[in-house]
Amino acid sequence: MTFYCTNCWNEIDAQTEICPYCGTDQNELDNESYVEKLIRSLNHPEASTPVRAANILGNLKAKEAEAALLAKLKFESDPFTTEAVVDALLKINPALKETIKKLIGTEIPITIKHLLED
Ligand SMILES: [Zn+2]
Repeated sequence: MTFYCTNCWNEIDAQTEICPYCGTDQNELDNESYVEKLIRSLNHPEASTPVRAANILGNLKAKEAEAALLAKLKFESDPFTTEAVVDALLKINPALKETIKKLIGTEIPITIKHLLED
C-alpha cells in the first residue's frame, strides 16, 4: 500500500511522522476528516492534485465541498482543473448548472462545454 503526505501528497513511508518534503506532522492532521483533507488539496500547487481531489469529492457527492469547489472555480484558469471541478459540482448538486454558467461567463472552456449543455 502506498502512503501519501496529507498536506503535499508526496509519497512517504507508512511509519513517517514528519513529512521529509514539507515538514507536516502526519499525526497532527488526523483530527481532520477525509473530506476536509480533500478540500484542502483543491489548492495544491501541482495541478494533478486538485484534479484528483475534485474527482474523489464528486464521487463521494460531498455536499460540504460545494462552497470550496465554487470558490475554486471562480479563480481557476487551468481547463482540466476546471473540468474536474465542474464535473464534481454537478455530481454533488445538478441544480448548480446555472450558477456555474454565471461564474464561468461567456468564454466556456472547450473541456467543459459538454458538461453544461442543456
Ligand atoms: Zn508533505
